Amino acid sequence: MNNYGINIWSDDNFIIEDGEAKINYASKPSLISIVKEVREQDFKGPLLLRFPHITNKQINTLYSTFNDCIKEYKYNGSFNAVFPLKVNQLPMFVKPLIQNGKEFNYGLEAGSKAELIIAMSYNNLNSPITVNGFKDKEMIHLGFIAKEKGHNITLIIEGLNELETIIEVQKETSLSCPNIGLRVRLHSGGSGIWAKSGGINSKFGLTSTEILQAYRLIATNNMSEYLTMIHFHIGSAMNSIKPLKKALREAGHIYAELKNLGASSLNNINIGGGLAVEYSAYERSRFYSLREFASDVIFTLKDIAKQKGVDEPNIFTESGRFISAASTVLIAPVLELFSSEHNIKDLNLKKDNPPLITELNALFKHMTKKTSYEYMHDAIDHMESLLTLFDLGYIDLQDRSNAEVLVHQIIKKAISQLEVEDYEELKKLDENIQEKYLINFSIFQSLPDYWGIDQEFPIMPLTHLDKKPTRSASLWDITCDSDGELPFDSKKPLYLHDVDLNKEDYFLGFFNVGAYQDTLGMKHNLFSHPTEVNVVFKDGVVMFDEINESQTIMDILEDIDYDPSDIKKRLKENLDINTYKILEKYLNDNSYLKTIWSYND
Ligand SMILES: *Cc1c(COP(=O)(O)O)cnc(C)c1O
Repeated sequence: MNNYGINIWSDDNFIIEDGEAKINYASKPSLISIVKEVREQDFKGPLLLRFPHITNKQINTLYSTFNDCIKEYKYNGSFNAVFPLKVNQLPMFVKPLIQNGKEFNYGLEAGSKAELIIAMSYNNLNSPITVNGFKDKEMIHLGFIAKEKGHNITLIIEGLNELETIIEVQKETSLSCPNIGLRVRLHSGGSGIWAKSGGINSKFGLTSTEILQAYRLIATNNMSEYLTMIHFHIGSAMNSIKPLKKALREAGHIYAELKNLGASSLNNINIGGGLAVEYSAYERSRFYSLREFASDVIFTLKDIAKQKGVDEPNIFTESGRFISAASTVLIAPVLELFSSEHNIKDLNLKKDNPPLITELNALFKHMTKKTSYEYMHDAIDHMESLLTLFDLGYIDLQDRSNAEVLVHQIIKKAISQLEVEDYEELKKLDENIQEKYLINFSIFQSLPDYWGIDQEFPIMPLTHLDKKPTRSASLWDITCDSDGELPFDSKKPLYLHDVDLNKEDYFLGFFNVGAYQDTLGMKHNLFSHPTEVNVVFKDGVVMFDEINESQTIMDILEDIDYDPSDIKKRLKENLDINTYKILEKYLNDNSYLKTIWSYND
């Protein structure tokens, strides 16, 4: 048996019971039951299931952990948080997040004009908005308008020029000024592959000289009351807590120094995001708990405040991955298993066969449990030799086909006879006996971080979880790109079941895909987003709150600026009306593959 590392990555959000992957909440429905229900409504292809209750759990955990630590340390500042929109801006994710975060005044962080417009439109008025990233005068003016609308907004400046622009906008308009934050360029860097967000050579933030200049500029323009926040962000997915501690000391002292210089309204430290999520199905890669993270933050800031004789600052966080990753599961149907096509009835032995083929046939017939490993090994060796013989012209295509069929049958038989729980025997052969699973999805669209930065995601079939998976699996997506593959990796092996797709469906779940994947995903080969479903529980009963169908072929083409009427006009040429009508129906389907097709459908 194999639990696909669920004890490492699932945080009890999902469990295995009765051989099925289930949602560990309310009535504990199985994922497969939800998939079937959605597909019965004629939504085919891959699905993105979103679970707002998981986002809600993360928000609750974040606030309660920090608030518990605040109590324990008798800390005088408050805890506040915002969700960084760049991690997931889609309405089906953001709207429930805002609704669920209302009781905590959970806010939003924006890093571009479009994200700021989302925040200005949907954020609860009492909840904070923070604005990071490079800003032009128009974006700064948007910040003033947000303030005018009644939002609690802080513009965090990345450079002195942004501060100068804020002063200009204030003078040129009669609007009152939003709060101002200073992003500090830390001497200490982060950890992990995103470490370049922090550190002295980082793209963002002010050096200590610039911080002093900024403070003087603010003071001479009588704007001290607006300077409220110090901000840093050391990078995403911190796997260790040590860089955070260093960054906290640095930023904490900058806060205290500015307070002592006279920045009387400065009372917030924003520690950015970076809380990691466990993506590995093999071994833990995050080496701290949220509790440890929170107490380190509070302890360090308390210590510095005491040392420098200033008030303990309110704490802001902008963790995004931690809040959103676990909430979304990508579910994709397996379309085909490649070697299972080799059926024993395809074997077409001749009267006279080359000796190696005769031998393969004997291995297949006489294999026993005891000899299975040895025979399988021999068969793989023979296959190599037979391929060479074919290249040299000594055997023909029929011989080669017979070899293929026999070797696959031998491997299948051997695997079914091996009773090695730890797969040690299998592992030695993984490279040779792997099965290719063709999956109805696009890696470029749905797992862009796998393609771009080798990000690992937990993968688990939705069913058969009470059976031993025996095939070492490579996953192929349906794009025409050889990068659209999750190859078998013997260091992190994925084993799947040997299923007969003519008899049953087999679905794979890709977990923790709720952070960054949605809008990073690209339409390579013109595969658009999968059909999205918000799965909610009302009085313990599972319901679909909203379904956003995958784009139709025509919508996709229109998105890349083709004119639908021009396309239709061209397609009509040389076709009779009935054929064109069928064609037009296809234009209104999505571009993922279908397993059922009938002419009259
Ligand atoms: C990306 C980003 C975040 C979110 O980081 P996570 O690792 O997803 O928590 C927070 N703050 C800023 C400024 C960011 O750029």
